[in-house]
Amino acid sequence: MTHVLILGGTAEARDLAALLEAKGVPLTSSLAGRVSRPRLPVGPVRIGGFGGVEGLTDWLREQQVSAVVDATHPFAATMGAHAAQVCSSLRVPLLRLARPGWVQHPDAASWTWVGDHVAAREAADAVGGTPFVTTGRQTLHHHVEAWAERPVLVRLVEPPEAPLPDAWTVLRSRGPFAVADEEAIMREHDVRVLLTKDSGGRFTEAKLDAARHLEVPVVVVSRPARAEGVAEASDAVAAAAWVEDQVGD
Ligand code: NAP
Repeated sequence: MTHVLILGGTAEARDLAALLEAKGVPLTSSLAGRVSRPRLPVGPVRIGGFGGVEGLTDWLREQQVSAVVDATHPFAATMGAHAAQVCSSLRVPLLRLARPGWVQHPDAASWTWVGDHVAAREAADAVGGTPFVTTGRQTLHHHVEAWAERPVLVRLVEPPEAPLPDAWTVLRSRGPFAVADEEAIMREHDVRVLLTKDSGGRFTEAKLDAARHLEVPVVVVSRPARAEGVAEASDAVAAAAWVEDQVGD
């Protein structure tokens, strides 16, 4: 029996679900349930955590999953690690589907690359002035205390998890963004340094072009390490071909 689980929450995951649905491959897409109005893929969807490694193991067994595609966001490292562990122990084929990062971006060599969010803050401090933080609401706790008294511009999809300092300005928006709009935001808020993470993709790339135009330095948090030995694809078409190889006719 064929049953493909797509661990989702990304555009690539939605693209893959659409391709597999069109080919009639039985699948379930899984979302964490963090976003109040998620963009839903076509086809069956389950929402919410599995309950760690044990919960995912039970789910794959109960649902007789024959292949898993981890198409979670490049920074969703816990879900990816759980998938790698469980698929290895159950001998279920696993593919990692992740869009290319921005390391190949023409400006990448001019940015400051750091390993974590604290190092990103320190790099921004070395520049000074208002930082524009686009690393996501789960990362803000790294900066709240150190930047309690200074102007910080933050852009979030969902409301912050905890109250933020009065000096901070929060923009709520999900993108995609246009370069001209990004430039206008940076000018309006007198942004002096951009803090981002290596999400990759075109939806949120415009801020990087805007930063170049305005000569605003960019600090990029590198992607977390992933489990070794997992097959990889960088787009939904390649992932669909992998799934078809696994499930056969
Ligand atoms: P994470 O740190 O890797 O995962 C934390 C926990 O959330 C996991 O242990 C799992 O709970 C649950 N979870 C994560 N992805 C799930 C999925 N697709 N289906 C079911 N449960 C899932 O993940 P995160 O960084 O919080 O991201 C959560 C979701 O948002 C992901 O699906 C990701 O693709 C999407 N997303 C993340 C980012 C980002 O910057 N991190 C950006 C855009 C979209 P259990 O242990 O209970 O199974």
